[in-house]
Amino acid sequence: MNWKLILTFMTGVAATVGLLAALPTLDFQPVEAKNPKSKWSPTKPNPTFDVYYPGTETLAPDEMRVIACGSGMPMPRLKQAAACFLVELGNGDKFIFDMGTGSMERIYALGIPLDYIDKVFLTHLHMDHMGDLQGFYMYGPQNNRSVPLRVWGPGGGGTRPEWSTKTAMDSMLKTWAWMNGTLVGTIDMRSAALKVTEYDWSKVNGVIYDHNGVVIRSIPAIHFEQSASFILEWNGMKLAYMGDSLPNKWWIKHANGADLAIGECFLPAALAAKKWSFTGQEALNAVTTIHANATFAGKVMAMTKAKHNVAYHFQNDADTLPVVMNAVEQVYDGPVDYALDFMVWNVTKEGVRTRMAVPNHEAYPTPPLHEKKVASGGDRYQTPDSVLAGWPEEFNVVADKIYADFNKKHGTNYKFQLKK
Ligand SMILES: [Zn+2]
Ligand SMILES: [Zn+2]
Repeated sequence: MNWKLILTFMTGVAATVGLLAALPTLDFQPVEAKNPKSKWSPTKPNPTFDVYYPGTETLAPDEMRVIACGSGMPMPRLKQAAACFLVELGNGDKFIFDMGTGSMERIYALGIPLDYIDKVFLTHLHMDHMGDLQGFYMYGPQNNRSVPLRVWGPGGGGTRPEWSTKTAMDSMLKTWAWMNGTLVGTIDMRSAALKVTEYDWSKVNGVIYDHNGVVIRSIPAIHFEQSASFILEWNGMKLAYMGDSLPNKWWIKHANGADLAIGECFLPAALAAKKWSFTGQEALNAVTTIHANATFAGKVMAMTKAKHNVAYHFQNDADTLPVVMNAVEQVYDGPVDYALDFMVWNVTKEGVRTRMAVPNHEAYPTPPLHEKKVASGGDRYQTPDSVLAGWPEEFNVVADKIYADFNKKHGTNYKFQLKK
């Protein structure tokens, strides 16, 4: 018998017992003890949800709902797409602020008809803020969008014209010319129209959108050049969305007192270097000269005095979150949520309710809101004869049977034709 071990064990037990004895008695009373009459039914819907099921809740006329469809980084991961926030207003208007890589599937998982989300505002043209825009645009016809996609992005302000949003969108259309051209006449292509509006990113608090009681202003961001932040005002409420920026006086002034302020909050330098396998210089450059690290972010929150803050743009994991929170809390002790994808904020004048959404992992296109219009006859693209030469004639009868069965079931009169 090893007496030293036994002694160590007994000392440990004594210490544990002592610790338990020292713990204060919790004044814990279960809800049932006070209110035994629960409204929960074994068959009816539950009276309250602690999560948000998209498509099941009415948005009140004076309520704003914001959903993170991308809270992460330019380093791709399944858990977090890059920057994207959907803004829904009680008057029916919806806006998308940024559309970073990976965000499109998250938008689709909410089951909102594309005709309702035709307004995309870009803070700047980094891939992690606009990388999924081309997919969102190009997939319009296949997913029942029947209106043009409208994009607002930075331009002017003395920067090079070849860096502007219009140049980027022109290049995007050229990139997808083959895909758009060959789709003509096979599917409703009205959503292939793209309307681009450039706003002068250098203007301080200039109005870039004013319609239906919604005003969106932009302020310059300190993030290279041609980057901006947005201030949306509606129904006496203010939503501020930073995009990417170092601390700046424009944000502190114009996002002041916002009902909800979404600001970037990078990992602290040492953690960034370790997690990203960056050199010390690379990590320090990223989080102090290009982006706002957690300490910067906390101080910005303290100076901006928003009613409720959202910290985003970092890998939010079990081991990183406490480090980020600690850095923020050194300088700021107000309300802040550390964003994850599908975090939802319901904003009213009374305050902010934060929940997580339960998205649909098996989304299909939502039904069209307008009658379908497919160009036919001369407008349809025609595959060249040299390619159709490879079609096996035996399949004509197979295809004819598919059409006959379909027509019989639906009372239609469609005809199979590879050539118009
Ligand atoms: Zn950026
Ligand atoms: Zn970014």
